[in-house]
Amino acid sequence: MVRKISILGSTGSIGTQTLSVVDQFPDKFKITGLSARSNINLLEQQIRKYRPQAAAVLLPEKARELKKRLRDVNTAVLAGEEGLKTLAAWPDTELVIVALVGFSGLEPTLVALREGKALALANKESLVVGGELIMTEARAQNITIIPVDSEHSAIFQCLRAGNENEIEKIILTASGGPFLGWSEKELACVQPCQALKHPNWAMGAKVTIDSATLMNKGFEVLEAHWLFSLELEKIDVVVHPESIIHSMVEFVDGSIIAQMSFPSMLFPIQYALTYPERWRNSLPRLKWEQLRSINFLLPDHKTFPCLSYAYQAGKTGGTMPAVLNAANEVAVEGFLENRIPFSHIPIVLEEVMSKHSVKQNPSLQDIIEADAWGRQEGSNFLQK
Ligand code: MG
Repeated sequence: MVRKISILGSTGSIGTQTLSVVDQFPDKFKITGLSARSNINLLEQQIRKYRPQAAAVLLPEKARELKKRLRDVNTAVLAGEEGLKTLAAWPDTELVIVALVGFSGLEPTLVALREGKALALANKESLVVGGELIMTEARAQNITIIPVDSEHSAIFQCLRAGNENEIEKIILTASGGPFLGWSEKELACVQPCQALKHPNWAMGAKVTIDSATLMNKGFEVLEAHWLFSLELEKIDVVVHPESIIHSMVEFVDGSIIAQMSFPSMLFPIQYALTYPERWRNSLPRLKWEQLRSINFLLPDHKTFPCLSYAYQAGKTGGTMPAVLNAANEVAVEGFLENRIPFSHIPIVLEEVMSKHSVKQNPSLQDIIEADAWGRQEGSNFLQK
């Protein structure tokens, strides 16, 4: 049986790796939709190779150019946010992979769920900002969201070992990023090129910087909170620099189930595509003779305060996580453009969060407004 899949964000890191998994099983998948923000050169190549029914480009002028280039191809080219939503709802698609970056993932995710699509979610920010809306929609449609994030895929797999009411807690592992063990003073002089060099994982720029600040782990705590309906108190973070154990579940009897593999996103991506089955592949296996030891330590909340901000925002709830996410998107962009030093990223977040008047039980519109407010406050602070 051929599975018809659409990839929202097909030119990014997760998108291109999803296509490389698809290439390993060419007779099992049919690509019905692809999308990019602005990289139409790569998107054009992908369209010519996979011949999807539709493709969406977020930037309208880029969409127009792509349309011109693809006169000889029978793929509908959609434009802008509306185009992306049309693609998320594309009738022929069975499984939507949301590999968008940042807040932009929220609405297409909601649309795909509303249309009853199976959903593989790589966009953690959509759960951070709109977790309640997404999970309510998923429950209403009786859809199990399949996580693509390596930690959440690990937990999703470990949970097959027990029932929901037998979970004591989950333990998210963190590599600690490139600055594990650094002091606040050392962190002050970090350059973007240093922060973009992750020791274990090859990822996009945004998530790599978030890994360096531990904001990524904080977002993953909130992501897990929604995906697995667990209180924040039941979600722990342990630093494990080798990234061999991708996360763990502790059950009420004290047994801990861990999921391990060679650190590559191709494993969780493949599991999301083949779930609930497992398919033989040729991905690299763990080499025990090279693995001398694995280490664990507790995160340094003082030097990397972003992790605590995520717990705080999660406890406050309402629109606060959306504001944290918005301020973080602005701060990371500011750092990548050399407008603020690395050590100012958490300062921006703390400042913006402290000014926010929280709205509880937010609607989609409330979240969109909180996001815009957080971005504006973040940019104002950056200009100072
Ligand atoms: Mg992750």
